[in-house]
Amino acid sequence: MTTTEKSLLPKKIDVLIIGAGAAGLMCAAVAGARGRSVLVIDHANKVGKKILMSGGGRCNFTNIYTQANNFISNNPHFCKSALSRYTPYDFIALVDQYNIPYHEKKLGQLFCDNKAKDILNMLISECQQAGAKIRTKCEVSHIEFDTTCFQLSTNFGTCQCDSLVIATGGLSIPTMGASGFGYQVAKQFNIAVTPTQAALVPFTANPHILAKLSQLSGNSIEASVSCSGISFNENILFTHRGISGPAILQISSYWKANTIVDINLLPKINLLEELNQYKTRGSKLTLKNLLAKYLSKNTAQTLIDLWFPDSQFNDTPIIQFADSDLSNIAQHCHNWQFIPAGTEGYRTAEVTLGGVDCNEISSKTMEANKQKGLYFIGEVLDVTGHLGGFNFQWAWASAVAAGQVA
Ligand SMILES: Cc1cc2nc3c(=O)[nH]c(=O)nc-3n(C[C@H](O)[C@H](O)[C@H](O)COP(=O)(O)OP(=O)(O)OC[C@H]3O[C@@H](n4cnc5c(N)ncnc54)[C@H](O)[C@@H]3O)c2cc1C
Repeated sequence: MTTTEKSLLPKKIDVLIIGAGAAGLMCAAVAGARGRSVLVIDHANKVGKKILMSGGGRCNFTNIYTQANNFISNNPHFCKSALSRYTPYDFIALVDQYNIPYHEKKLGQLFCDNKAKDILNMLISECQQAGAKIRTKCEVSHIEFDTTCFQLSTNFGTCQCDSLVIATGGLSIPTMGASGFGYQVAKQFNIAVTPTQAALVPFTANPHILAKLSQLSGNSIEASVSCSGISFNENILFTHRGISGPAILQISSYWKANTIVDINLLPKINLLEELNQYKTRGSKLTLKNLLAKYLSKNTAQTLIDLWFPDSQFNDTPIIQFADSDLSNIAQHCHNWQFIPAGTEGYRTAEVTLGGVDCNEISSKTMEANKQKGLYFIGEVLDVTGHLGGFNFQWAWASAVAAGQVA
């Protein structure tokens, strides 16, 4: 259905959408179904690359528990209108219409049983049925608004449109086509952009910590991770660069450089009580063997080496530990104050925090307050979902809001 790569763009179209990702394709299908002539252009060689790589190849396409508090934004109320008008159940109805098999993995997260391609094919088919055209490898060099319509210059010629929808996503994973294009367009039309930051991204560790922690690479532990007054209880995963896993990805969206992340490695027990009981009973277990009851042996030894490098803890039986030592050990396990060296950045981040300022956009239509006919949808906006299908739900909901009016 993609128009041939040699042909020029149509001279005039009702709706031109830049970005053929989740939001752009959904918006094209909705606007096309209203009878609008629609063209979606993308500078990448293929559409929907992030959909294909999402959810480990199975696309966590929505979350049935989606609520406004699953999103981070300078304007936390902004997402409410679109999310309430296009819910996870609306998207599930579409998925059902295409007989795409799916399952709930955990915590309301819906994944395809087979491949993420099922979702992309569904969106392409919706565009086809709505008569929306898609053009890849199309670069926009210039945008102008002249009193009634937009005029775009591209490597496939110029094109005029009444409505221009920016669906170019955020900065994460540049190799998948991510660019700051949407922010540039916002700035061109004098629309504010809030500071951006890689989010849902692994932390890196300082070399002296990594020298020890890297031995645990591949191990995961259920933990409670907190910073800035927010906590997530899920797994953390040690990597050869630092720490990742769902709890870390979630908290990374709230983390500011050089601040502490509190990690409770044993959220389900009171370690001090346990240690005291062993001591009272005269236990001759070493600290490593005792901690290995709750963590793996390797994890216990590595953390003891990391936290107490010069101590005599290794061979001493628990009965000989001072109360203050036990307290110190419990404190470290329940409240490990980890200061990340940084994050892995946009190279591996799932999303971009920040973006086009929602205070400058209509929450009903996604149209810019300052520029009639200009719309921003999906990740390019300052709306960032938690891990678990929320970012796609935002892409669908904001796309439908714009597609119904653009
Ligand atoms: C590895 C990974 C896994 C993920 N897994 C999930 C998941 O399972 N569930 C979930 O909810 N979210 C997931 N996400 C997040 C989700 O993919 C995004 O939030 C979502 O794709 C945003 O949709 P979008 O349409 O706004 O942007 P995108 O999907 O990023 O689409 C933007 C499109 O714009 C194009 N573009 C960019 N710049 C230009 C330009 N200058 N000119 C023309 N075209 C341009 C790009 O090529 C791209 O096709 C994941 C992200 C990553 C990176």
